[in-house]
Amino acid sequence: MGRLDGKVIVLTAAAQGIGRAATLDVFVHCVYQAFAREGAKVIATDINEFKLQELEKYPGVQTRVLDVTKKKQIDQFASDIERLDVLFNVAGFVHHGTILDCGERDWDFSMNLNVRSMYLMIKAFLPKMLAQKSGNIINMSSVASSIKGVVNRCVYSTTKAAVIGLTKSVAADFIQQGIRCNCVCPGTVDTPSLQERIQARPNPEEALSDFLKRQKTGRFATAEEIALLCVYLASDESAYVTGNPIIIDGGWSL
Ligand code: NAD
Repeated sequence: MGRLDGKVIVLTAAAQGIGRAATLDVFVHCVYQAFAREGAKVIATDINEFKLQELEKYPGVQTRVLDVTKKKQIDQFASDIERLDVLFNVAGFVHHGTILDCGERDWDFSMNLNVRSMYLMIKAFLPKMLAQKSGNIINMSSVASSIKGVVNRCVYSTTKAAVIGLTKSVAADFIQQGIRCNCVCPGTVDTPSLQERIQARPNPEEALSDFLKRQKTGRFATAEEIALLCVYLASDESAYVTGNPIIIDGGWSL
């Protein structure tokens, strides 16, 4: 049996990075490993239409352009979906800098994309889950949050700490109605956005070496390693897990 057979999974920010690896992983588990059986139906959403199109070639993956900062788009999307088993909120942005480098626009942008989007998505899809008497929400947080103080991650860590609070709150409020809610707290993951952040620094070589120095394992996590944890959380194997910020950071926060 595939671990996600028959599940309908909605993903945000699926076009690249962690979201995309999760989409492909779900695909691999449900379509290839479970072969003759029906796999999960993955509804991959992103703001980037062009990158989303690449995912359409995979069976079991349906795509939809969605800007998670736009309430109207989210509500329309929710009304178009009949049922879902898993909502996986991935979208997030990393602002580099201390509180002194973070202007009000930077602050609002990050709070909007990293936190308000999850509030809007959960609010739009939770009623469906409650009507079904079952639902599973996974939010993308980070160890740069209430778990660990990280230099130059002021607003980012603030938003990711808020995601942990949101996760625990939703888990506590709806546990008796068959809903669970967890969040994933990765360390540094090798994704296109990490490479962009490294290239954007005045000295990319030094930036790469700084990033690597803080990795006790001497390497970054791969998006696939994060996606495997997400598959576990999305599956019924984790039925007894709720309200948890789950750390996957190669020992960074030790
Ligand atoms: P990424 O930048 O590689 O991908 C982000 C995706 O989000 C892109 O496909 C982009 O098109 C999409 N996006 C941007 N704005 C959007 C919007 N308004 N609506 C919908 N989609 C939008 O990101 P990533 O590095 O894979 O990170 C994904 C998540 O994982 C984020 O929440 C991030 O904070 C978290 N995270 C990443 C790392 C890391 O080291 N990469 C570590 C810990 C946590």
